[in-house]
Amino acid sequence: MKLSEKMSSLGTETAFEVLARAESLANEGRDIINLGIGQPDSTPPAQVVDAAIKALRDGHHGYTAAPGIYPIREAVAEYLAHTLRVEVSPENILVTPGGKPTIFFAIMMFGELGAEILYPNPGFPIYESVIRFSGAKPVPIPILERNNFSFKADELLSLITPATRLIILNSPGNPAGGAACKSEMDKFVAGIEARPDIAILSDEIYSRIYYGGTEHISLLSYPQIRNRLILLDGWSKTYAMTGWRIGFSVWPNELIEGATRLAINCHSCVNAASQWGAIAALKGPQTSVLNMVASFDERRRFLVEALNAIPGITCKDPVGAFYVFPNITGSEINSFTLQQELLEKAGVATIAGTSFGKFGEGYLRISYASPLQNIRLAVDRIKDYLSGC
Ligand code: PLP
Repeated sequence: MKLSEKMSSLGTETAFEVLARAESLANEGRDIINLGIGQPDSTPPAQVVDAAIKALRDGHHGYTAAPGIYPIREAVAEYLAHTLRVEVSPENILVTPGGKPTIFFAIMMFGELGAEILYPNPGFPIYESVIRFSGAKPVPIPILERNNFSFKADELLSLITPATRLIILNSPGNPAGGAACKSEMDKFVAGIEARPDIAILSDEIYSRIYYGGTEHISLLSYPQIRNRLILLDGWSKTYAMTGWRIGFSVWPNELIEGATRLAINCHSCVNAASQWGAIAALKGPQTSVLNMVASFDERRRFLVEALNAIPGITCKDPVGAFYVFPNITGSEINSFTLQQELLEKAGVATIAGTSFGKFGEGYLRISYASPLQNIRLAVDRIKDYLSGC
């Protein structure tokens, strides 16, 4: 068979490979602590499961409208009005199977040979993978520890060229849990006004997961860029619904029709039961979200302190999401080797910083979406491994 040239440029998300290896080691009887995969360890609120079961019992087994049933788009609009105080029409909302299709669709819309797309590095690996697949040139926006793992607006704006078509931002960010501060967001928005031809994809999938009173700053709240802003958010992280495969995006008038056409070509629609469950998540009590974040916070504080006590490791306090991104340069082991050794020899699954791009060398991503007793044990194993015990 002769595959298309494009296939060789498609990357992957290492977290899924590490998950597969961790599972196969566990099946061989090894005791593995998986701090690799990025998903909450809680379950969705009960009303979500009830609503989805009811939808199935009520006979919702068929296709739905491609952008999502109208009640879910209305519910998302109400949710955005409530959480961000921003008015969005249901007509601009597209419900997708998770957040990932929004990344794929936005990049497919703007990416082609000769185009340049800016993306966070280290960042969610799918950005760079799909940019390369589209034929466009990926231009990394450095997300550095010295900038608290966020972008610097001046640096970002200096990367723009006449070929730039799309800029991808992610705050709070995967893998390091940094978040853009208001002044840098303001500076970015002011700077980008000179280039109204550039679209922006703001990946805000961790919008509800913050610590220490930090407030979410959404790019949706800047009216100056609304006509070219694509917002990505969803239920996966906020409501612990990663396996339900449901997310939402907000598209400007000029792009919503193209996005819907991509959806029709790709997946037709999200399954109806997930949509009804997702409505219940947005409309029901939000205590499960608050409890989940409080529990992440306790684990985050423990983990940061414990990692900083290990010789060879230093770890910044993340302000959002549920990952720490410790600096491991003091261990004198590169990121990939440490990922492999910790998994194979110490039984702890983590992800090498380089899985998130070249600026991730010297770091490991550790997810703290795992019970505290697992995290304690994992830290002990990491400490023992690094001290040669
Ligand atoms: N964007 C970021 C930054 C992520 O970390 C993830 C998942 O890990 C996604 C998007 C995709 O989310 P979903 O599982 O809803 O497709």
